[in-house]
Amino acid sequence: MFSSYPPTPNDPSMRSTWSQIVELACGWATVALALGKSIRLAAAAPSYTVVPSMVVAGLAGYFLADLISGVYHWVIDNYGDPSMPVFGPQISNFQEHHKWPLALTWQQVANRLHKIALVMAFFLFPLILLCRDAALLSLIASFGFFAIMSQQTHSWAHCSRSQLHPIIVALQDAGVILSHAHHRAHHGPRHDNSYCILSGVWNRILDENRVFKALEMALYVLLGVRPRSWSKPGSEQTEDAGKEGEVTSAHAQIQ
Ligand SMILES: [Zn+2]
Ligand SMILES: [Zn+2]
Repeated sequence: MFSSYPPTPNDPSMRSTWSQIVELACGWATVALALGKSIRLAAAAPSYTVVPSMVVAGLAGYFLADLISGVYHWVIDNYGDPSMPVFGPQISNFQEHHKWPLALTWQQVANRLHKIALVMAFFLFPLILLCRDAALLSLIASFGFFAIMSQQTHSWAHCSRSQLHPIIVALQDAGVILSHAHHRAHHGPRHDNSYCILSGVWNRILDENRVFKALEMALYVLLGVRPRSWSKPGSEQTEDAGKEGEVTSAHAQIQ
């Protein structure tokens, strides 16, 4: 992924390319299409009774995006191989993020978000064409928007508070989006908890109930597959060895 190892803030691979900008635009256009169709159907409905269900569906999309971000992150962190087709580069990217977490904050926006935006466009666009339910379209729009934003909230969680706009800091403090204090739990030695990266609201439920641990054991018993987190050494902590909210240099990330 990076042009040089260890990566630096000026690494050319952090810059957005035109194709990445187009892919991100496709993602936002898909979200806008779902929202527009939802509003159009609601406006054409005989009454406004559909509006509350659209709002609830929008909230459901926000919570669903956080949950799916955690499930996907858990799968990619623990299973498969960097040489695999399709998922291999993602597995490699997540492993690199554990080694050099600050590199995520150095990427330009389209460089950071284009992959998830393209995935959302690919899967949600056909659903939008088929769907004629205003509430369901509201759910699709919300889920798509927050799924794309999950990598942005993840990046903000690796920034110091002084680097962020006060509104972003207020949203982090309110627990609406992922905070540094919350996300640092994932960047412990084993990277085996706090997988959700939009708001992290599901992390407590999933971790306290040992949901991923139970799934890992079930997969091991049924298929004999061990998750990567079972064999991690306990000495890989990098960025978060510093003070909370303090951004360390690229050099300090290397151990
Ligand atoms: Zn991870
Ligand atoms: Zn992270």
